[in-house]
Amino acid sequence: MKLFFSGHGETYAVEQTLLTLFPSQRPEYPDDAPGGDCELELRFSEGVHFATASALLRFDGKTHRALTRSKRLPDEADEVSKTRQRRRLLQRAFYRAAVDALGVEPPWGMLSGVRPVKLPVRGVLQGQSLSQAERALEKTYRVSPSRTALAMDCARAALAVQQSLQEDEIALYLGIPFCPTRCAYCSFISAAGNTNQLIPAYLQALHEEVRTAGAATRKAGLFVRSVYLGGGTPTTLDAEQLSDLLSALRAEFPLRDGVEFTVEAGRPDTITREKLDAMKKHGVTRVSVNPQSLSDEVLSAIGRAHTVSDFYAAWEEVRTAQFPCVNMDLIAGLPADTFSGFCETVDRVLSLAPENITVHTLARKRGSRLHAEGGAIPDEACVFAMLDYAWDALRSAGYLPYYLYRQKYMSGGFENIGWCKPGFANEYNICMMEELCSILSLGAGAVSKQIDYAAGSLTRQTNPKYPQEYIRDCSRILTEKQAFVNRLRR
Ligand code: SF4
Repeated sequence: MKLFFSGHGETYAVEQTLLTLFPSQRPEYPDDAPGGDCELELRFSEGVHFATASALLRFDGKTHRALTRSKRLPDEADEVSKTRQRRRLLQRAFYRAAVDALGVEPPWGMLSGVRPVKLPVRGVLQGQSLSQAERALEKTYRVSPSRTALAMDCARAALAVQQSLQEDEIALYLGIPFCPTRCAYCSFISAAGNTNQLIPAYLQALHEEVRTAGAATRKAGLFVRSVYLGGGTPTTLDAEQLSDLLSALRAEFPLRDGVEFTVEAGRPDTITREKLDAMKKHGVTRVSVNPQSLSDEVLSAIGRAHTVSDFYAAWEEVRTAQFPCVNMDLIAGLPADTFSGFCETVDRVLSLAPENITVHTLARKRGSRLHAEGGAIPDEACVFAMLDYAWDALRSAGYLPYYLYRQKYMSGGFENIGWCKPGFANEYNICMMEELCSILSLGAGAVSKQIDYAAGSLTRQTNPKYPQEYIRDCSRILTEKQAFVNRLRR
């Protein structure tokens, strides 16, 4: 879409709204002045009494206009407030013109961020009641009733965790960026292959980071409340490598008693009895086994190297090992899937009664094979019906939504939702998504976050993305990580 701005330079905010309302469009900025060629003109001006934003949108041969206005802030108001007002007015004007053009409001209304639950959580922590926070979602941000209810359920789960968090507690993440094969929808920096030559050198560097970060955490008087071993697929490691890593984590880090400890064993074809025994021995409490779909045709279309019967075999092993909590991921909108096929997957997964079920919506991420090659996927209406079916089935089976997030390029602008049986919400997912406590992240691509919730501040420390760079820059990373943990000390 060709864009023209006047009186402002709010590129990022406008582009976020554009991606939400018109996911297939990409922004362009022609050099010429506005005219017939320009599809969206967004203007901002301040008069004596009012700040005004106007949108003119040419879409499908018609012109749509919208104007928003609010009382001008005094000259002495701070820049943050002025910027916030300008963005809000511009996004609202664009939104109104777009809804007029499309004839329908998106499920998340004007919200374009990945963390819609943050809004009610922050609102309540700043003194709003739950019903005021709920009204703000519906009235101010025009979120649909179904998404408002969903966000409020997740906000309640997040507020419960927030109240139980101690000041000296952090969450810990470790990344293993290796998978047996690459899924068609994956944009993750994962190197495929069990025999990947990088794994030994990668683990050596990771063990060093574990030792350094563990010692610094101890010295800082901090405790780890939840651990998440993700990736990639951590169970791409062999049983001995996995056992050594879990043992090092336990030895080096001060873990709270009863620490929540998740391992993503996402790919059923990587799960063995020996690996599960190692996880049990080292106190893993939650394991993810992700079918994504229970159709062999769909699994083949998305490049998974396992079948439905491999999934059931892995599930049997995991259940026999008796982990307190098992999660299963599903994806709505996969290539070759149908409404009835997806519903059957949901029903079959529910019949296994895992403690957590995470329902994702397919996103055509940049960098994925699906994005590069295209190909048929279920349309928005079909994905909507799939999600609708899953919600009803999950609620009827007693599951509750406890965290959610959105992604760019997601079918229909929908969301990914974590569902749990009562009492089985995964705290790591909540803390990470709502940014409730500081997160210490180790490994390639890891992003550590120092979060001061009361002050509203967030500082990041980022490790290199690629395993090769991570291995090469290991000593620099250790220095940075130590400095990061020292800053967490209160
Ligand atoms: S298992 Fe996950 S990280 Fe690995 S290729 Fe598939 S989507 Fe990517």
